[in-house]
Amino acid sequence: MEKRELVIIGAGPAGLTAAIYGRRAGLDVLILEKGLAGGQINITDEIENWPGVPHSTGADLAKSFKDHAAKFQPEFRDVAVESIKLERGSKIVVTDKGEIEGEALIVATGASFRRLGCPGEAKLIGRGVSYCAVCDAAFFQDAEVAVIGGGNTAVEEALYLTQFASKVYVIHRRDTFRADKVPVERALASDKIVPVFDSVVESINGEEMVEGLTLKNVKTGEISELPVEGVFVFVGTEPNVSFLGESQLRRSRGGWIITDENMETSEEGVFAAGDVRDKVLRQVVTAAADGAIAAMAAYAAVTEQQYLHDRLFKPEFTVVLFTSSIDEKQVRLASDAESWAKDKGLPLTLVDGYRFRRMTEKLGVETLPAALLLASGEVRQRVSLTDVTDLAPLFEKK
Ligand code: NAP
Repeated sequence: MEKRELVIIGAGPAGLTAAIYGRRAGLDVLILEKGLAGGQINITDEIENWPGVPHSTGADLAKSFKDHAAKFQPEFRDVAVESIKLERGSKIVVTDKGEIEGEALIVATGASFRRLGCPGEAKLIGRGVSYCAVCDAAFFQDAEVAVIGGGNTAVEEALYLTQFASKVYVIHRRDTFRADKVPVERALASDKIVPVFDSVVESINGEEMVEGLTLKNVKTGEISELPVEGVFVFVGTEPNVSFLGESQLRRSRGGWIITDENMETSEEGVFAAGDVRDKVLRQVVTAAADGAIAAMAAYAAVTEQQYLHDRLFKPEFTVVLFTSSIDEKQVRLASDAESWAKDKGLPLTLVDGYRFRRMTEKLGVETLPAALLLASGEVRQRVSLTDVTDLAPLFEKK
């Protein structure tokens, strides 16, 4: 089976940033993407909150992310991921073009627009029902359309639609928008935008194409008809996790993947980054930050595995000193121990217990500094030490 150090699933801002950081750290990186790299921002008209770039179209920003990542030469592969197999520590990605084993895995598959689920919606997708204003707004020149939802996406996309449509009804189930103040003020100032509050869509009507909506006022129960040619649904997002099994990776309500602050999921060596994560703010900038953190944590995991194997588990006998690189006294102890062992011609392995925390914990070391005698990976003896000479008994045992 094909084996790679880091396999990234998804080439949006999170996946592409992870690829940049992974490659810069020297990892062999394979990035899997079905279709166009860049993710959801490809269908975003305007990005004005990516620091350093006051204004860009989503497609331009997506292209510059892709070009930037390509400069570091990860391998891009156009495949559909069907499932992942996580058994006894191995991490296998099953794609429509074969299986790949990764030493570390980053899931950066993003999120997709949620559907309303009302009668008529599924039948009329592409026939007036859309989830992407940038893609479809031009089909509605001088037409009356409806936007469903009251969040930032709904309000911003409604504003975008005013460039094409003659009227944009924004149908929201509450009496105030959830979106931020600035876009709401802009929307309410537009003479083309008509808010319809306290209303839900009962059905989207039309035979071949959308002809209108049946609305229900949630306060009065009143049913009304609204003739429109287009319906843009922006009622939130859901994570792209259909390739995960029911119980794979711990997830929150709604299916978002839960990680720790290093972006590690409930499965060791499997990380998640970007919109697919359970998090408060889903933005390009937070996706990119997640990607960077995930890649560095993946690097530590891969290095750890290789280090564990080559230096600690493989040798018949080895003495290991664990110190913390953020404690000045312990840094000095490590340096003294290195010279002491060299003078005596003793083989000593030094491990930064702060950086390689998980490996250190795995070997049962809870406080630093500490030293172990390992025999083919088994702990034979452990000492907590105050001076380099405390290492001597471990070498005698051997
Ligand atoms: P969102 O903030 O979750 O808003 C979803 C909207 O859809 C809410 O108004 C919700 O109503 C409504 N809704 C949900 N289910 C519904 C249903 N079945 N029927 C009718 N209405 C329904 O989602 P979003 O607007 O896609 O934004 C997602 C995230 O991206 C947010 O954190 C947002 O701030 C961020 N975002 C930021 C920017 C930006 O900074 N420029 C742009 C776009 C998005 P309730 O209000 O009643 O819950």
